Amino acid sequence: MFKKTNLVLLGGPGAGKGTLSAMLKESAPFLHISTGDMLRAEVKAGTELGKQSQSIMENGGLVSDEIITAMVAKVLQKDEKKYGMILDGYPRTLNQAKMLDELLLKLNRPLDAVIYLHGSDDFLIKRLTSRIMCRKCNRIYNQYAFPPQKTGVCDDCNGEIYQRDDDSEASARKRLLTFHAQTQPLIKFYKAQGLLIQISCDEREAVLAETIKKLN
Ligand code: ADP
Ligand code: ZN
Repeated sequence: MFKKTNLVLLGGPGAGKGTLSAMLKESAPFLHISTGDMLRAEVKAGTELGKQSQSIMENGGLVSDEIITAMVAKVLQKDEKKYGMILDGYPRTLNQAKMLDELLLKLNRPLDAVIYLHGSDDFLIKRLTSRIMCRKCNRIYNQYAFPPQKTGVCDDCNGEIYQRDDDSEASARKRLLTFHAQTQPLIKFYKAQGLLIQISCDEREAVLAETIKKLN
């Protein structure tokens, strides 16, 4: 049923976009585009973009709409459209959403749904500050709720588990402010297009089932 379904995952930091992406990818192959993962790869590789982005990310700000959109466009333009896609963490501003609409129109690849993972600020802060992830495969864990079996080592790939620099409480609060100011307007934008599906993000187990139910 997910064959060729084109999705945007929208939600505050820590809402579980990455986790839901991983679960969806288990039910069908998807082209998964996580702009956060892509930027972290640039930082790790020490590229010019990585150097520019690092402090922006730690301060909870956003990388420029043009740079991010160019990054996403490059992947989408190369893609053979064999599978559906998950845009995870993009778009994040109204301007990006408009740029994406234009791009998808050109590529003849319309969105089927925008899944908005909704949670209270308190909930998101708690989840963010206890989040840990794999440096190698980007799998996401939680220190308390679902840690890896062996402390510090990824269950899937034996990679090193770490906490993101921007998951400190101070950074997390700034990212949440950025979300409210810059990303929240997208909810109305996509609602007007009839694409929005809202799902509560606090029940980890229920999120996938709810998503599938509502997509159907
Ligand atoms: P989160 O857990 O906050 O959803 P992400 O991994 O999606 O984190 O993104 C991490 C950081 O990368 C963001 O705080 C932001 O600085 C930058 N970033 C990711 N996606 C975008 C985007 N679409 N536009 C601008 N900046 C982005
Ligand atoms: Zn791993």
